[in-house]
Amino acid sequence: MNWVLPSKGCSHIEQTIKSMCGQTTQKIDKETTNIMDYYTELKFKNEILSVAYGLGYNGTSSGSSCQGECPKHGSDSGKCLVIWPGIQGWHCYHCDAKGDVINLVEHYKSCDHATARNYLADRVKMPHLGQSKMSAEELKQLKEDQAEKDLVFNMLTRAVEWFHAQLDNFPDIQDHLTGHYKFSKDIIKELQIGFAPPDLNHPDNTSDLANHLLRIPEFKGKLLLTGLFNFNDPSGPYYNYFKGRIIFPFWKDGKVVDLIGRATTITPQDKYECYTDKEGNIKWKNS
Ligand SMILES: [Zn+2]
Repeated sequence: MNWVLPSKGCSHIEQTIKSMCGQTTQKIDKETTNIMDYYTELKFKNEILSVAYGLGYNGTSSGSSCQGECPKHGSDSGKCLVIWPGIQGWHCYHCDAKGDVINLVEHYKSCDHATARNYLADRVKMPHLGQSKMSAEELKQLKEDQAEKDLVFNMLTRAVEWFHAQLDNFPDIQDHLTGHYKFSKDIIKELQIGFAPPDLNHPDNTSDLANHLLRIPEFKGKLLLTGLFNFNDPSGPYYNYFKGRIIFPFWKDGKVVDLIGRATTITPQDKYECYTDKEGNIKWKNS
């Protein structure tokens, strides 16, 4: 088998993310950096497992994860809330709540984002965010930029869950991941490695992934920000960018921030009509 890294697929997504981060940084430079630094420092100082235990989590270690009870409901196994210290993320397989350490505090304390953030700040003796000299306009812009970035990460995370679920239909790809790549089944599940179906039988099909994501109201009109779709018209319909490729996600703070696709022997060699460049501008392939 010939497995190659498709440079276009990789850099495309990477550039989408980078250009978004780049735009954010240019717009409000120093204050943005300050707030990013604030979140980075806050999360760095609040290691997720120690925060969880402080909130009453009772998980026990199992491989690279911890398994314990969810505070929201009873459980027969007592193992539904899983925390991965390696990626500083968590997921309850019963109620499907998930995210980073801030989301974990929100989950345990049934509070909003700012309350959870302040709880973590108090815990490590950091000042609360907002106690700075930022103007109201800068703060508003910053929150909007952060919200858009969070939205893209949420869309990528949902997409990666979908790619992972597709593996069930492709036992040969599963065998290749365990045989060739030597990934254990636990790692494949933990990292949510997945597969983009080749769409060989129906090359003109619109994207099942797009249809899946569009069931989530907040994603409507935003799918192109992910770089996961091709299109003739920006308003749709959308076609899958990745076809017949293994999908490797990159995780940060419990969310997918980037992903790459590796070609397989069943990767179709078709052309797409449009794509977004690193500035987010729409380009036509033949122009
Ligand atoms: Zn739960």
